[in-house]
Amino acid sequence: MNFDIENRIHERLPKYIEALKQLVRIPSISFDNFDQKFVLQSAEAVKQMFSDAGFTNIQFLMPPSGRPTVYAESLTSPDKPTVLLYAHHDVQPTMRENLWETKPFEPVVKGDRLYGRGTADDKAGIITHIAATEQVRNLLGKDGPNLKFIIEGEEESGSAGFENILSQHAELLKCDAVIVADLGNFAKGVPSITTTLRGMTAVAVTLKATKAPLHSGSWSGPIPDPGQALCRIIASLTNADGSIAIPHFEDGLIPPTPAELESYRSLGYTETTLRKEGGVLDCVQLNVPEKEILESLWRRPSIVVTAMEVGNRTNAGNVLQDSAYARIGIRLAPGMDADACAQMLVEFMQARVPNGLEASFAVEDGANPFTTDTTHPFFTKMASSMAKAYHAETKFIGCGASIPGAELFRKTFGDIPILLVGIEDPECAAHGENESLYLPDFEHGIVAETLFFAELTNKK
Ligand SMILES: [Zn+2]
Repeated sequence: MNFDIENRIHERLPKYIEALKQLVRIPSISFDNFDQKFVLQSAEAVKQMFSDAGFTNIQFLMPPSGRPTVYAESLTSPDKPTVLLYAHHDVQPTMRENLWETKPFEPVVKGDRLYGRGTADDKAGIITHIAATEQVRNLLGKDGPNLKFIIEGEEESGSAGFENILSQHAELLKCDAVIVADLGNFAKGVPSITTTLRGMTAVAVTLKATKAPLHSGSWSGPIPDPGQALCRIIASLTNADGSIAIPHFEDGLIPPTPAELESYRSLGYTETTLRKEGGVLDCVQLNVPEKEILESLWRRPSIVVTAMEVGNRTNAGNVLQDSAYARIGIRLAPGMDADACAQMLVEFMQARVPNGLEASFAVEDGANPFTTDTTHPFFTKMASSMAKAYHAETKFIGCGASIPGAELFRKTFGDIPILLVGIEDPECAAHGENESLYLPDFEHGIVAETLFFAELTNKK
């Protein structure tokens, strides 16, 4: 059966690439200062594809921004499992257009990659869902699973209305599992399921000592310097190795299981790769040994100063500055809570303000980290389907970044398996210039999802 499916999908691949190109031609950038008629146009195009594929109950789920999420379903029978398939049809702006070697919205195949904004992130996700559904319906008809589609229209601009859409339509969207096709593989040809995401939050802190900047010759000495005061506070947040010094900050942390650690190590990620990809200077020593790099990126929290301001370079005269500002960004590891951590950070800093300087804190909206129970049989089925499709061992990986949607699915549907997959790869330049999709993995991804659907209703 595997062989048949692979052949059928290979035969149909030009048609799937054509459908993908059709979506990529629509510049559906969901940022306010771009023409939002294109987001509507891409929603209409997705709707038309759903209708051409014979899906039912097709409708727009409208957030206040007017950037439609497209819903559709392909139902078989109430006694079959139901899977909700997520992707998004909006895209990022093109960034520096002069750096594109081809036109961002005129998709072109060069070698084994398809170039264009949205090819990888995330219009390929939409076509993968449609193609795999078409295949499993041909293969199993009414014996296949129930499939529901939810294609968001404002993921790249922050998913502001998505939580509301999920809660308002919870009954319509009810399912036994979610596939989020908006992630990527660890490397080309390496099938990967992302099982954790870090969360984030940020706190801005301002210290003030005087009503206005002063002549440093006339005034410095008796009056404390807010710049140094702020540096002392910031330096107290972490230890020399970058680990966090705030008591109880990591109390809820869920450490990786031995199996997860084993999976991370099997990826063979090296310090050399990190240095090369991150542009780390040769003289700089890392905070962790090589074998802990992935664990540090995916499963531990981090604190970084994302901005700092005391006076400025252009006007750097002999001045005792009146105030100092910093924005402290935190990445949260699975198990940690964004609001609680932001609060602990504020209290820790507040308690360390020297000389009674006036301190003010502003906490930004955070996103909680995500983790999912990989012992559910659906994970095993997905892992084995991907391995068969890619002809390679499936890896369980983490992701150091945040996707608020993943946690929203958990909040709405409770403890069901949420499978984070996708066909981005380290070379795809999602969000950057010259975004591209690696076509062999596009094909593998469609085969994998088809095999997974077939596995779900397999009684054995
Ligand atoms: Zn995306």
